[in-house]
Amino acid sequence: MTDTHVTKRPMTLLGLGDMGTALARTWLAAGHPLTVWNRTAAKAEALASEGARVAASPAEAVGASDLIVLCLLDDASIGAVLDAADLTGKDLVNLTTGTPAEGRARAAWAEARGARFLDAGIMATPAMIGAPGAGAYVFYSGSRPLFEAHRGTLEVPAAARFVGEDPGHAALHDVALLSAMYGLFAGISHAYALIEGEDIAPKDLAPLLSEWLGAMGFFVGNAAERLTSREFTGGVVSNLAMQVAASGTLLRTAAEQGVSPELISPYLDLMRERLESDPAAHAGEDTAGAITLLRRPGRS
Ligand code: NDP
Repeated sequence: MTDTHVTKRPMTLLGLGDMGTALARTWLAAGHPLTVWNRTAAKAEALASEGARVAASPAEAVGASDLIVLCLLDDASIGAVLDAADLTGKDLVNLTTGTPAEGRARAAWAEARGARFLDAGIMATPAMIGAPGAGAYVFYSGSRPLFEAHRGTLEVPAAARFVGEDPGHAALHDVALLSAMYGLFAGISHAYALIEGEDIAPKDLAPLLSEWLGAMGFFVGNAAERLTSREFTGGVVSNLAMQVAASGTLLRTAAEQGVSPELISPYLDLMRERLESDPAAHAGEDTAGAITLLRRPGRS
């Protein structure tokens, strides 16, 4: 049976923090018979009035359904909750954020207990879950048969993107996107710090920042093409030598404004290192060439 049938499949959700509660509400609203368990029982009781069946223990919750969804704080909490549970024949979907290695180890752990396993990375906040047009989605990787069997159910709270059978790849996609986001937040934070105390309102800089970052978004595709072709010199619009020279202006401006360069200097240093390693070879390059330095042995 697949979940395209009219009767909604029973399912179990372990973990009712902010995200787990948002997920639970969408499955309940869609008519899924839902069994829930949470370490702090009061959060589960709050969902009982909305139709959830509350299990007294993780073992009881796992016994109630074949599809078990986890939304706990971290990988360690999964072990704490499920190490003693009988997972034979269960389909385990892990929405808990983790690393790629944790996803792979958790898949092996689940399979050794007779369960199919799908790891996931949620690209949404709780407010976006089940909200039409909010753009929420979840990366999934691991057992494709499990994903196909439960796809309709998994797509109730947010769109689903399957990124392969390596159970580490959902986490890897999740963390790659989040890491890029924090780099962006760092640059935006530095920009606002530069104007603080000046007669420039943050709300006036805001639309200019948004517009500029949108225009510079071309770097995403540009870097992908250059990393694929390993061609860093053809068709360069802003060469590395010029950008390294300009980075001195950025650092002097930070000093003039009394702002620490700590959020932007690592990237500026990386560009300089790439240039200085072989100026003749790298002066005319695109900045994407600096990415190749990051995976060098001893750097991570
Ligand atoms: P919360 O901190 O709100 O909830 C954490 C949940 O984990 C609670 O149910 C908590 O139980 C449970 N928990 C923590 N430690 C243990 C343990 N040792 N044993 C049993 N249960 C435990 O987090 P969220 O709900 O917001 O997040 C859940 C997952 O979703 C995380 O992995 C998070 O990274 C991910 N996520 C969250 C997003 C967000 O914006 N909130 C966005 C994308 C992903 P108790 O209630 O008893 O404390």
